[in-house]
Amino acid sequence: MFKTRVTELFGIEYPIVQGGLMWIARAELVSAVANAGGIGFLTALTHPTPEGLAAEIRKTREMTDKPFGVNLTFLPTLIPVDYAPYIDVCIAEGIRFMETAGRNPEPYMEKMKKAGMIITHKCTSVRHSIKAEKVGCDAVSIDGFEAAGHPGEDDVTSLILVPLTRDALDVPVIASGGFGDGRGLVAALALGAEGMNMGTRFVATREAPVHINVKQALVRAGERDTRLIMRTLRNTERVLANSVVQKVLEIEAKGDTKIEDIAPYVGGKRGLAMLENGETESAVMSAGQVVGLIKDIPSVQELMDRIIGEAREIMTNRFGAILR
Ligand code: NAD
Repeated sequence: MFKTRVTELFGIEYPIVQGGLMWIARAELVSAVANAGGIGFLTALTHPTPEGLAAEIRKTREMTDKPFGVNLTFLPTLIPVDYAPYIDVCIAEGIRFMETAGRNPEPYMEKMKKAGMIITHKCTSVRHSIKAEKVGCDAVSIDGFEAAGHPGEDDVTSLILVPLTRDALDVPVIASGGFGDGRGLVAALALGAEGMNMGTRFVATREAPVHINVKQALVRAGERDTRLIMRTLRNTERVLANSVVQKVLEIEAKGDTKIEDIAPYVGGKRGLAMLENGETESAVMSAGQVVGLIKDIPSVQELMDRIIGEAREIMTNRFGAILR
C-alpha cells in the first residue's frame, strides 16, 4: 500500500494515474489500470456522441468494480464540440472522478461540483494550476515539457514544474510528463507530487486497444524520437517522429501556417485509423520523451507490479543504504 492524498482522494492502492488518451483510454485499458490498483480515465471525446461515452462507462463497470473516471479535454478541435452533454452523461452514469484538461474548466465547474464530482485539472503551467485550484478543482495534474500530446508553450520540464506547482497549491499534485517506471514514481513523490500520471507508457501494454505495430514503434523509439508540431498555432503537440510529422513540420517552416494547411495530416480520424491498422507512417501519434524508457509490452498488471516493486526497493534499500 502507498498512502498519499491522491490514493485517498480516489480510493486506490497505488498513486498511479492513467490520464485521458485520445482513442486509446477505453474500457480495456481503464479497467486494467483500475484492477491493478491505480486509476484510469476514459477519454470522453473518443466517442463521437455522449451516448457512446455512456455505453463505454457501462462496459468499463462490467470489467472492474474499482474506481475509474472520465477525461474531458478542452482544446481546439476541427469540429466544434458541445462539452456539456458529455458532462451530463457522466453525471447520469454516476461518474465521481473527472479529469479536465486544456482550457480552464470554470464554465462547467458548478455543474460538476453540484453533482458531487471530484475534479482533477490537467494543465501545463503553475499559473494555470493556481487558477484551477481557485475555481474549485480538487487536484492538479501538471504536465512537464517531456509530456506527450499538448505540453503547452512554456517548455518547462517536470523537474522544475512539479515542485513549483507543489509550492503554489494546497490541493494534491499529480506529476505528469516523462514518467514511466518506479524511479519516476519515487522522483515524482520526492518532488512533492502525491501521484504519478503515465500516458505513453500505458499505450505500450497488452491491454491498450491499439495495433501491435504501434506498441512496437514505441518500444523501438529512443528519447530523441519525438517532435513538436503545431508550435506555429500555439497548440503544440508532442508526437512520435515519422514521415507525416516531417511533412507537417515542412509546412509549418514555410510560415504563416493555418490549421487548414495541416488539418489533413493532423486530424484525429486519421490518427484513429493508424491506431487500428498499424500503419505507423500514415498519421501523427502523440508520444512523450518517455519512449526512451519503454523497452517492452507487458500487461498493465505486470507494469504496475514492476513499478511498485522498483519504487519500494529504492525507497527502502537504496535510500536506506545512502542515509547514514
Ligand atoms: P481534431 O481532429 O479535432 O484536431 C486534430 C488536432 O488539431 C488536435 O491536436 C487539435 O487540438 C488541433 N486543432 C484542431 N483545430 C485547431 C485550431 N483551430 N487551431 C489549432 N489547433 C487545432 O482532434 P482529435 O484528434 O479528434 O482530438 C480531440 C481533442 O482531444 C482535441 O482537442 C485534441 O487536442 C485533444 N487531444 C489531446 C491530447 C492530449 O495530449 N491532451 C492528445 C490528443 C488529442
